[in-house]
Amino acid sequence: MITENISTLVNYGIAAGLLDEADRIYTINRLLELFGLDDYDEPQNPVVITNAADFDLEGLLKQMLDYAAEKGILPDDSIVYRDLFDTKVMSLLLPRPSEVISKFQKLYEEQGAKAATDWYYTFSQNTDYIRRYRIARDRKWKADTEYGEMDITINLSKPEKDPKAIAAAKNAKQSGYPKCQLCMENEGYAGRVNHPARQNHRIIPVTIQGNQWGFQYSPYVYYNEHCIVFNSRHIPMKIEHDTYVKLFHFVEQFPHYFVGSNADLPIVGGSILSHDHFQGGNYEFAMAKAPVEKEFTVKGFEDITAGIVKWPMSVIRLSHKDYNRIIELADVILAKWREYTDEAAFIFAETDGEAHNTITPIARKRGENYELDLVLRNNITTEEHPLGVYHPHAELHHIKKENIGLIEVMGLAVLPSRLKSELEQLAEAILAKEDLRKNEVLEKHADWVEEFLPKYGHVTKDTVMEIIQKEVGIVFGKVLEHAGVYKRDEAGRAAFQRFIDGL
Ligand SMILES: [Zn+2]
Repeated sequence: MITENISTLVNYGIAAGLLDEADRIYTINRLLELFGLDDYDEPQNPVVITNAADFDLEGLLKQMLDYAAEKGILPDDSIVYRDLFDTKVMSLLLPRPSEVISKFQKLYEEQGAKAATDWYYTFSQNTDYIRRYRIARDRKWKADTEYGEMDITINLSKPEKDPKAIAAAKNAKQSGYPKCQLCMENEGYAGRVNHPARQNHRIIPVTIQGNQWGFQYSPYVYYNEHCIVFNSRHIPMKIEHDTYVKLFHFVEQFPHYFVGSNADLPIVGGSILSHDHFQGGNYEFAMAKAPVEKEFTVKGFEDITAGIVKWPMSVIRLSHKDYNRIIELADVILAKWREYTDEAAFIFAETDGEAHNTITPIARKRGENYELDLVLRNNITTEEHPLGVYHPHAELHHIKKENIGLIEVMGLAVLPSRLKSELEQLAEAILAKEDLRKNEVLEKHADWVEEFLPKYGHVTKDTVMEIIQKEVGIVFGKVLEHAGVYKRDEAGRAAFQRFIDGL
């Protein structure tokens, strides 16, 4: 069986373009070594693979992992060790980084940026660095709101660790190598119980502002071609003049991708503030589609089209053919915002020496013009809102209480995995007219359901999930309204205008 698996895997590697026919015997021998074998017979009916993307790679790897577990090659038969080992298996099919880089650069030069990223994105899936079969398990839907079609995803592709692995990770020595999951040193790294294996990972170098950066896809792809662009040095995130320059240097080289940065303060930033990086991709979010609802001009920058975007958060959009002009105005806006206090609007630049104002910037190319969206952020906390005043408030925590980072800001809700089962249970409970307040798991959703259910009249088995999904979208709209520093009422609009007038 295992030799048949090895034969099939090598056929997969060839079909996926990871290997050449000339690599066949060599790769079979490397795999035999990994599985502690010294004998091989080519199967009589080898599996023919025509389309790598459709092939059941998960099923094949499962059989190989079961064999490894049975033979004691795995230290423990659990998801953490299985993921470490199947990455090692896949790595034997991969070309070296220099070959991947040459291929990418050749495509870029001869056929353009899109051809290069198309190839690299497929490659990153064929290598199993992006685990297609896990991504396919994520729950995804679109929800119509007054701000456009929001994307909602319940992320199930990050494996939940078993207790044994958590204990092993706790006891494992704290290593400083690689310094984090975004460091260059992850390329080819075997991983350990508290760090994912990356032998099947290949990074494309890009030059940004004269420095070396890395370009890769997110292994958890939240949206199409979700990429990460990261500094080759492990230095903290910072929103400053150079951030805008770097964003546009990337968009200039990859004009079919948007790219944005998380803000540089806790609560309003992303989960990794310690390593300078951006996220981008080939996807148009609801925020990018949202129109400018009020244009304005800034003295000295009359050539720049500027406006406030119709969006639950507070977004200024700048547009111009020359991105250097956009950067000049963005510098003015950032400097002004950093030190801006408007007590009437509960905006404080700092309290007790702690700075609160920052920006989440997103850059893109639209037609002939460059565009920059500047999302105004503030991370102040109060006794009433200990997690943040401009953060989803307690009444929305039954759906979302995590940070509102770049991806959410743009209109994609990344919801916790617990919601998959909770929403399913909720659908059943609604149909059974169960008292939610008596249900330990569903109690937290009771207020919400009581509020929306009367709108729908008769709810059936066929419509209940549709209704819940639509209402989750509406909650997400509110989540973003809470995160917006200026509310969309008269007072909020007037306060936003005061800031604009001050420019
Ligand atoms: Zn790092």
